[in-house]
Amino acid sequence: MSDLLMRLNRNPLSGAIVKAIGLPNPVPLWREAGPYVERPFEGKNVLLRRTVGGYAADAMAAALTRAGAAPKEAPRGDAVGPLDIVAMDATGCVAPQDYRALYDGLHPVVRQLARNGRVLILAADPGAALTPAAAAVARGVEGFVRSLAKETGARGVTVNLGYVARDALDRLDGPLRFFCGARTTYVTGQAFHVAADVAAPTAMPFTRALSGKVALVTGAARGIGLAVVERLAQEGATVVALDVPGAADELRKVCEPYAAVPFLADIAAPDSAERLADFLLERFGGVDIVVHNAGITRDRTLANMPEHLWDLVVQVNLAAVIAIDQQFLQRHVLRDEGRIVCLSSVSGVAGNFGQTNYAASKAALIGYVAAQAPLLAPRGICINAVAPGFIDTPMTDAMPWMIREIGRRLNSVKQSGQPRDVAELIAFLGTPGAFGISGATIRVCGQGLIGA
Ligand code: NAD
Repeated sequence: MSDLLMRLNRNPLSGAIVKAIGLPNPVPLWREAGPYVERPFEGKNVLLRRTVGGYAADAMAAALTRAGAAPKEAPRGDAVGPLDIVAMDATGCVAPQDYRALYDGLHPVVRQLARNGRVLILAADPGAALTPAAAAVARGVEGFVRSLAKETGARGVTVNLGYVARDALDRLDGPLRFFCGARTTYVTGQAFHVAADVAAPTAMPFTRALSGKVALVTGAARGIGLAVVERLAQEGATVVALDVPGAADELRKVCEPYAAVPFLADIAAPDSAERLADFLLERFGGVDIVVHNAGITRDRTLANMPEHLWDLVVQVNLAAVIAIDQQFLQRHVLRDEGRIVCLSSVSGVAGNFGQTNYAASKAALIGYVAAQAPLLAPRGICINAVAPGFIDTPMTDAMPWMIREIGRRLNSVKQSGQPRDVAELIAFLGTPGAFGISGATIRVCGQGLIGA
C-alpha cells in the first residue's frame, strides 16, 4: 500500500532521477492524528477577505476567532507572509464585474499560501438569487474554486467552496473548522451548501464532539470502516462495528482498542436490518450516527456481467442501505438530531469502465441522500454522502500495480488518500456542528480528474 513514488523522491539519488524524468514529487500532506481541539487555529496565519455587499464576512470572522484564529484583513496586495488559511466572503458577487473581487482578493496572495494551506470561499446560494444573472455569477465562483484547487494542489493546498444561505450564518462554525483545518487533507475542489433547513442541535460541542452518542459503522473490519471506528471513538462515541461473520477475528481486533461493540451480520441477508434494529434498541435504546460504509465491487463489463454479480452489488451497496434506514426510521431507532452518512464513490459521480453495477449503486446513493434530506430535516437529522476517490485500502490494493500507480497520480495532489482522510469527513458530518449540511455528496478524492 505504500507510495513507491514518494519513497523514491525521499531518497536523494533516486529522487534526482525521478525529477530528471519529470515525474511528480508529491508533498507530504497535513494530517492530524488526535481528536478535535477547542482552538485548532491558534497560532495560524489567517487572512480574511471581504467583497462589497457580502453578508458572510462578519460571521466568518466570529467563527474563525472562536476557533482560536486572529484573522487579519490586510488591504489588497499587502505582504502578509506564509498564509495558513485564507477565508473569503464572496457572497457580494452578484454581477459579472464583481468577479474582480476574486482577482483582487486572491491574486496577490496565491504565492504566499503556505504548503498545505487552506482556502475557503463562501458564495451566495444560486438558488436564492434574485435574478438569473446573479444566480449565474454565484454559481461561477465554483469554476474559480475548482481551478484554483488545481493550480495549488501540488503544494498540498486545499480550496473549497461553501454556498451559504443568508439565514444560515449561525451554522458556519463547523464547516469553517473542517474546511479551513488540517482534516480537510484530501478534500479539495469541492462545493457544498450551508442551509437553515435542518433543526438546530440542542448542544454543539467542538471537542469530544460525539460524547454520549451511539454510532453504527458497517463494513468496519478493515479499510475505511476501520478508520471511521477509530475516528468516531476518538470523539467519544460508543461504536457498534458491523461486518460479515467471516471477518469476526479482524472485527474483534478492531473493536478492542476502542471498546467498540462487534456485530456480525451480512447486511444483504433478508433479516439483517430487523436484527440490527432490535439489537440497537435493546442495548442502547437507539442510535445517533449511522455510517453505511460496507460496499463491494464485482467488476465486469456489462457484456460480461453475470446476473448474480449484478444482483449482489446492488443488494449490498444499495438495497441493504435502504432496508436498514427503513427499519431505523419506521421504528425510531435513529434518534432526533441523528446523522446518516452513505459511502458513495467517484465512480458514482463519473461512471467507470467495468463498473456499471457498482456505479449505479453508488450514484443511487447520491440521489438517495438528496431525496431523504428534506424529509428528515424537521427531526434535526442530516443525511449526506461521501464519495472517495483513490484511497489506499485492501480494495484498491487488489488492483494491478500499474493501474494502481496511475490511479494514485490522477488528482491535484498527485497521491492517493488514506482511509483516515475519508474518516475525517465522515466524522465531521457526524457531529452536531455539521447541521447546516444535508443532502450533499462531498468527494474525498484530492480533486481526482475522473468526474472533476
Ligand atoms: P474494503 O473492501 O477494504 O472494506 C469493506 C468492508 O465491508 C470489509 O470489511 C467487508 O467485509 C465489509 N462488507 C462487505 N460486504 C459486506 C456485507 N454484505 N455485510 C457486512 N459487511 C460487508 O473497502 P474500502 O475500500 O474500505 O471501502 C469502504 C467503502 O468506501 C465501500 O462502500 C466502497 O465502495 C467505498 N469506496 C472506497 C474507495 C477506495 O478507494 N477504497 C473508493 C470509493 C468508494
